Amino acid sequence: MTRTITLLGSTGSIGKQTLEVARELGLKVAALTANSSVDLIEAQAREFSPRLAVLYDEDAANELRQRLSDTKTRVMSGMEGLLAAATIDEADTVVTAVVGMIGLRPTLAAIEKKKRIALANKETLVCAGELVMDAADRYGAEIVPVDSEHSAIFQCVQGCRDRGEIKRLILTCSGGPFYGLRFDELAGKTRADALKHPNWSMGAKITIDSATLMNKGLEIIEAMRLYRLPLSQVDAVIHRQSIVHSLIEYRDGALLAQLGTPDMKLPIRYAMTYPYRAQSPAEPLDLLKCPPLTFAEPDDRAFRCLAIAKQCAKAGGTSCAVMNGANEVAVMAFLHDEIGFNDIPALVETALSEVKQVSNPALSDILEADRLARESVRAHIS
Ligand code: NDP
Ligand code: MG
Repeated sequence: MTRTITLLGSTGSIGKQTLEVARELGLKVAALTANSSVDLIEAQAREFSPRLAVLYDEDAANELRQRLSDTKTRVMSGMEGLLAAATIDEADTVVTAVVGMIGLRPTLAAIEKKKRIALANKETLVCAGELVMDAADRYGAEIVPVDSEHSAIFQCVQGCRDRGEIKRLILTCSGGPFYGLRFDELAGKTRADALKHPNWSMGAKITIDSATLMNKGLEIIEAMRLYRLPLSQVDAVIHRQSIVHSLIEYRDGALLAQLGTPDMKLPIRYAMTYPYRAQSPAEPLDLLKCPPLTFAEPDDRAFRCLAIAKQCAKAGGTSCAVMNGANEVAVMAFLHDEIGFNDIPALVETALSEVKQVSNPALSDILEADRLARESVRAHIS
């Protein structure tokens, strides 16, 4: 089956790689969305002729509308545009490659339309994973993870007839550019230092999250939600080579892993073709040339974001949404050189102590927790 996709976040790192896969597999594109990257989305729209192109930013959308006036592509803006793209009739699959909590409402809307969700946007599952997974069950929408660790686990779980046989999930973690440093040694690290990821080339926000290890914290929560497991059954292990993408330990002691070169196009391609596999033009991993594979325990005293994420994972309720909202604002401030590296965990902890937690939250509680967390961080920065 050739899929027709809506691509939320088409101008980003995952978005551009998804369009490479679309070219390769001959996928059709019904809608493209981004925030404000007019030049790139215009070029993408001219190549893929979607019915709809959306820029969240209204001025940018007006500019795009003029530029695409000679085409059949309609242009919209704002959340209204994102929701229209997520629910467009022609698409059977929505790739959520937008960064941040902004992806939540479009993801839920796509689930209600029973679209397959190829999920890269982890912030959505961290903030509202239970609501998203419950909705997916209720409407019968498939969620196929794109995040490399969760895709590895998804691939290793195929053929498992009883999820009760899973003892634990083991997420691998590169350790980022500051692996081995102590907390005090991290203090002076700059934006430029933090943007140098050893193995993966990704968007700025996730690259900073990888340097603080918040990314692994977010991924632990993402895995808990996707596979409905408690924190005690999800571990992370440092694996500097990023070749083993993650593992499942089954109750009989068998460890199943997916290995490969660090290339996001493999999980993207699998999310498009699952339950089948397509031919890939990429060179496969050569075991005889690959470096020795090593594993070590993460240091969550130096990388406090990982410890904070585990605490929130245990606490549940709105705490993960508060943590995520605070982290999004703190990371943006770090990227603008407004705060230091170790201010990121400090601001997240402050937000967690200031914002009242709600258990069994509804969507409105989650959105409010996110708003208050962002407000808390902004107030402390200014
Ligand atoms: P990028 O920063 O490269 O791209 C983000 C995309 O989201 C861009 O298209 C951007 O548009 C769009 N966007 C940003 N803000 C808004 C907004 N307010 N409204 C609408 N669109 C918006 O991010 P990545 O591709 O790196 O990451 C995307 C998601 O995938 C994240 O959740 C990340 O954690 C996850 N992920 C990424 C991986 C990677 O290898 N990059 C690996 C695993 C998961 P514009 O260009 O106009 O700003
Ligand atoms: Mg990942």
